[in-house]
Amino acid sequence: MCEATRHKPDAPANDTAPSSPAPLAHSPESDPLQQNVQFLKGVGPARADLLRRLGIETIADLLFHFPRSYEDLTDVRAIANLSADSLQTVHGEVVEITGRQLADGRCIVGVVLSDGLHCLEGIWFNRPYAARPFRFGQRLAFSGKPKWHRDHWQMTSPRVQVLDGPLETGTSAVVPIYPLTEDLRADHLRAILRQAVDRYRSHLTDILPAELRKRHCFAGVQQAMQQVHFPASLADAQASRRRFVYEEFLVLQLALALRRRELRDRQRAPALGVSRAIDMRIRRLFPFRLTADQDRAVGEICRDLAGERPMQRLLQADVGAGKTAVAIYAMLVTVANQHQAILMAPTEVLARQHWQTVEGCLSQSRVRRLLLTGALTPSQRRSALDAIRRGDVDLVVGTQALIQENVQFARLGLVVIDEQHKFGVNQRARVRRLGIDPHYLVMTATPIPRTVALTVFGDLDVSTIRQLPPGRQPVVTRSIPASRRGWVYEQLRQGLREGRQAYVVCPLVATSETFDGKAAEQTYAELREGPLSDFRIGLLHGQLDEPTKERVMEKFRVGQLDVLVCTTIVEVGVDVPNATLLVVEHAERFGLSQLHQLRGRISRGTVAGQCFLFAAPGSEEAKERLRLLTRISDGFVLAEQDARLRGLGELFGTRQHGLGEFRFGSLLADYEVLQLARQDAFALVAADAGLRQPEHALLRQAVLEKYGQTLELAEIG
Ligand code: ADP
Ligand code: MG
Repeated sequence: MCEATRHKPDAPANDTAPSSPAPLAHSPESDPLQQNVQFLKGVGPARADLLRRLGIETIADLLFHFPRSYEDLTDVRAIANLSADSLQTVHGEVVEITGRQLADGRCIVGVVLSDGLHCLEGIWFNRPYAARPFRFGQRLAFSGKPKWHRDHWQMTSPRVQVLDGPLETGTSAVVPIYPLTEDLRADHLRAILRQAVDRYRSHLTDILPAELRKRHCFAGVQQAMQQVHFPASLADAQASRRRFVYEEFLVLQLALALRRRELRDRQRAPALGVSRAIDMRIRRLFPFRLTADQDRAVGEICRDLAGERPMQRLLQADVGAGKTAVAIYAMLVTVANQHQAILMAPTEVLARQHWQTVEGCLSQSRVRRLLLTGALTPSQRRSALDAIRRGDVDLVVGTQALIQENVQFARLGLVVIDEQHKFGVNQRARVRRLGIDPHYLVMTATPIPRTVALTVFGDLDVSTIRQLPPGRQPVVTRSIPASRRGWVYEQLRQGLREGRQAYVVCPLVATSETFDGKAAEQTYAELREGPLSDFRIGLLHGQLDEPTKERVMEKFRVGQLDVLVCTTIVEVGVDVPNATLLVVEHAERFGLSQLHQLRGRISRGTVAGQCFLFAAPGSEEAKERLRLLTRISDGFVLAEQDARLRGLGELFGTRQHGLGEFRFGSLLADYEVLQLARQDAFALVAADAGLRQPEHALLRQAVLEKYGQTLELAEIG
């Protein structure tokens, strides 16, 4: 039964030819699974239309239209043992059938079952014929959630099975629940599926190699298909679904494994070694000792750099955990090996800040370095690019716009990409096309949920820094009702008088027709006139020109401004340790990870930061977000929660390239299967690098079809 079957081109008896032409011409050579659903009995044009609304056109679409859940009707109880509110089943004999009218005009039909000792009443509202199929003395099973009503148990609209006659068609103890569209009845869909499974299942081909199936005790595809739709038990249903989830994840992980092999094993990068002397020379440049986590990350990076395969590593850290120092270490290793390194930041503000950090470390050194931003004049720019091309520059800091332009490097050894959690698999392809094979280090602003690390970043190795540098105080985060605004300003004034600095973050630059809340420009004006008039206030947002932004940021950095009113331009990376106060207006408009990033701005020094969140009364989800934020300070835990609340696709832009979208599997619910598939995929590619062995041919085909283009796997095709 579970042996892989090759394609059987013979078509089923064509006794139900569609009345309208099917989209696919039907010839004996064509794949029967690709036939239109109208080949099935009982599917005419009208029902085909309903099915199409569910995305079902072919027999294959229908077969792979899986239940979204199952109702387990195997919890059969004596009426005396019922408990409220969970799905249970009762067997009994019909002892009473009632019909009555309510005062509001609705009618109720009741069918009372007795199990010999006690009674349970099934009731139906406004379905006057609900009891018609039943007769006194008949044995029935009712399934539903019982409620105690006055003096007996009731179930509203129970699912009914006839016990003494032939079972209701298609009903079993486990009932699949399908995504349905209006007008398409569940029992009709089941009848159609029954035929499809019976007649076409034998045409399904198993792409899972027998060895993997055996190892995980998976049923063959045909049997699994049967059990997904018509399971004998909940365990069968779940095991079969799991098989398809595994298959789906396996195909993705194979694609990632192939790509990784492609990038790493076929390409050559310069081997950049670290001697003790180099290590000591670099460490002396930092004004602090690296934390144990930073040390571990440095170790992992050095091991990669020393090899001839390009490093493909993701460095993830909680806000303020000190990624920059690790990046600088890696760049200096590169320079010590006579190669060039670039550090790319997402914004000018961050590029400039990194530049200052680099300058701070290297003021005494002979490393030739250069800041490449949009602020350069055309001639400055030209000479900068020339110097890079000639190899007269060792270390370049710039914005990510850098990579879009045709910068040529003499001996590029390392690319560091900072604060970029959207820099997923296919965006990275662009850098690679520069035609050189440097090592890559991608650093993320947001800790990546485990699931995303295994998908969007699934071709990367991961280093993690969880530990914060010593002496950090946790930020005190409060959600503040509007009535206590005055108190918050009092707190701010007090902190500012003690010499601290504050950020006031607004969601938008200015008010508009669609937003009349607290925008940056208005807030700036209000604070200057009113509550913070004794202090020096600056305004920073994305619509200012570069020199202005730079000037404002610099003034804040050196303490010539006490308060910075800004938009999320400071969201990532900005590092001003003396700023310990943060007010967020309209916190309901920010995502969880974003708020955590903002809060990270004020946990850079040794004084505990204070974060005040103002939020308009809003959705439950927004409230939940703020609640989590006030309770959880660990960015990794928050990232998982954020993924749960918002869905992974939105969080990481995975939808664009389909790496986080699955037909059967759920990254969050099926994480354990995802891991299993990953291990197997990477082992498979290690053993059979091009998936050339005959038992892998179908897998290989599936991988190329689904991901060949997105992941640029054409080369293995
Ligand atoms: P992020 O990981 O958020 O980019 P940064 O690299 O900006 O964090 O570092 C945050 C702050 O922590 C900086 O002010 C940096 O100087 C400081 N820092 C980094 N590593 C250490 C360390 N090992 N000991 C003390 N301070 C450190
Ligand atoms: Mg940073």
